[in-house]
Amino acid sequence: MSRIIIISNRLPITIKKNKNGLVFEQSAGGLATGMSTLQEKNERLWIGWPGIANEQLNNGDKDSLQTKMTAMGYYPVFLSQSQVEDYYNGFCNKTIWSLFHCFTQYTEYENQLWDSYRRVNQIFCQTVLEIIKPDDIIWIHDYHLILLPYLLRKRIPGLTIGFFLHIPFPPVEIFRLLPWRNEMLEGVMGADLIGFHTYDYVRNFLDSVLRLRGYENRLGFINYQNRIIKVDSFPMGIDFDRFYNTSEQYKTKKEIKKIRDKVKNYKVIISVDRLDYTKGILERLKAFATFLEDNPEYWEKVIMILVAVPSRTTVTQYKKLKQQIDEKIGYINGQYGTLGWSPIWYLYRSLPFPELTALYYISDIALITPLKDGMNLVAKEYIATKKDSLGILILSEMAGAASEMGESLIVNPNNRTQISWTLKYALNMDEQEQQKRILSLQKRLKNYDVKKWADDFKENLIKIKDEQKNLAAKYLSPKNRLKIIKDYQQSFHRLFLIDYDGTLVPYHYKFKQAAPSTDVLGTIQLLCQDAKNRVVIVSGREKNILEKWFKDVPVDLIAEHGAWLKKGSDNWKTIEPLKKEWKEQIRPILELYTNRTPGSFIQEKEYSLVWHYIKTEPAFGRTRALELMDSLTYLTSNLDLEVNHGGRVIEIKAAGINKGITAYQWISEKKWDFIMAIGDDWTDEETFAHLPAWAYSIKVGSGMSQSKYNIHSSIEVRSFLKELAKKSSF
Ligand code: UDP
Repeated sequence: MSRIIIISNRLPITIKKNKNGLVFEQSAGGLATGMSTLQEKNERLWIGWPGIANEQLNNGDKDSLQTKMTAMGYYPVFLSQSQVEDYYNGFCNKTIWSLFHCFTQYTEYENQLWDSYRRVNQIFCQTVLEIIKPDDIIWIHDYHLILLPYLLRKRIPGLTIGFFLHIPFPPVEIFRLLPWRNEMLEGVMGADLIGFHTYDYVRNFLDSVLRLRGYENRLGFINYQNRIIKVDSFPMGIDFDRFYNTSEQYKTKKEIKKIRDKVKNYKVIISVDRLDYTKGILERLKAFATFLEDNPEYWEKVIMILVAVPSRTTVTQYKKLKQQIDEKIGYINGQYGTLGWSPIWYLYRSLPFPELTALYYISDIALITPLKDGMNLVAKEYIATKKDSLGILILSEMAGAASEMGESLIVNPNNRTQISWTLKYALNMDEQEQQKRILSLQKRLKNYDVKKWADDFKENLIKIKDEQKNLAAKYLSPKNRLKIIKDYQQSFHRLFLIDYDGTLVPYHYKFKQAAPSTDVLGTIQLLCQDAKNRVVIVSGREKNILEKWFKDVPVDLIAEHGAWLKKGSDNWKTIEPLKKEWKEQIRPILELYTNRTPGSFIQEKEYSLVWHYIKTEPAFGRTRALELMDSLTYLTSNLDLEVNHGGRVIEIKAAGINKGITAYQWISEKKWDFIMAIGDDWTDEETFAHLPAWAYSIKVGSGMSQSKYNIHSSIEVRSFLKELAKKSSF
């Protein structure tokens, strides 16, 4: 069984030094819980910075630290104070964090910070290489280590590497602002599996890969430097049971009682975040002020408990924001408060688990309105604690969690009027409705908790690695070439289905109107000389061009991806049958949207899949439908599909024609005893799919394919076809 190596900037353990020596503090974060599940099946090792700078450690400390930590399943990466400063406080937080959250106004582009980021990624790489074995499974976490997948791949090409980004991936217009964007993309593409929280981030990433590096994808698979990479969304969950059962724990019960005594009969709205500009705390306070202004009947009836956890306190923006928040709270309390009532109760500190979850448990509303947030776990934790109490989640549409939590009240964090109105709506929501929403959300959170998330990612990583291995094994070997030649010589009725662009000529010819070279025509001519051979050129090109190019060669033609066919001297014809294999690829996407959109469902017709949202909450259903359209349009761009939206349904169906269906006109024509199909892209997969099992299918290049064999280039294709033709016996 392979070992799992987790790599993250920080270990889930912090080392401190006091007069008695080194002290270990374990932190029980969500990620640590998710990773602990991996330990059940594989040996696990976690590599990261232990939170103490080199300057505080002497050599003896380092050795004893390493020994103690190794026994605990951890392995430390040692960093100096200045490295931590420039890499972590610098490039990670002043460049990547702000840019990826679309706060371009706060983003710094400093070569010195970038150099330090690269250097620290290299230090991580060296440390990992000290202990790694080639069959280990590597899972790298987050934006601190974006270059690490590439660095490791360079040193151990066959390594299994997964990468998960815990923050948003920005739209390409923002990402491209980064002077080091290409290095960053290449860094992450060293991984075999790249995971994000939502499809939006997946789409943004694939867009950047296409527009900045020129690599296309098909349903999230990228063929990158002879390696297939998978890009997908894995929305991170929480340790559901821990939060669900907290209200029965002694410590939490005590806190619940304490808080209830204090808040008396007030309706309680909670707001919990790290004090960060992405969290929209200031905007939230303004919206709350609007609510108070518009609804005086709620004065002295409602309080907001605002928890702001100190974060990056040395950074100027954070200091300034803290000051603005303090002032805003002071203003609101001064403006609306009375002698016995302050509308906002402010806690500027981190609450321990029992206190935090007691607060979740007793509160009537959680107002969570980040301006941009990769996921937002507080939203999920809040719902999970509602075992036998009620509550309503008001959630920003800018939080990754919003794409899975449709039963919450979704708001725009900048729209104060909408938030004020939604607060009033929530304060009046009846208990049955609250219960219904909570149960539905809890079901989803329980099903896809942090353990399931970790397992799912690991399984997908192993799967993509297996697919890569299968592919590598398919290259046409000299032994298989001989076997094909032998079969060729022993057959009498041979059919060749040969794609043009990327197969007979290199792919980049696609963008030219260049006629086939004499070598291409000569190869085909040679094949056609044998009366036992029937050769069909199966192309996406226009019929007139193909006819002109191949007029002197006795070939049959398929043009425009199967829309037109021409046999011998007959005229061009069209056919229009339909196929349905694509459903297997599209159905999971529809299922994902169905899971996330209460009331929606999938209808399966023979030649189409239909996603209905007539029974959903109208505005929410419509938003989801637009997102789904977006994903489908993007993901089906290389498949022969039509996607139609209307009448509260989205229908996906085969466009009706493809190379395979048209090629079948030849395949089914007679009893062939030798069939060979060669092609390079997705359109040729249709031809392969229509072949009998014994036929030879060959894919040019290293992409994933259902072909029997792969071959490297169009040069190799021509040389093999010539070799076959020369073995003809006349
Ligand atoms: N949290 C905490 N104490 C607090 C407030 C928050 O331990 O007083 C935890 C909370 O339980 C959650 C995490 O901090 O797991 C915040 O995660 P989230 O994804 O919401 O935001 P992030 O800080 O990662 O941007």
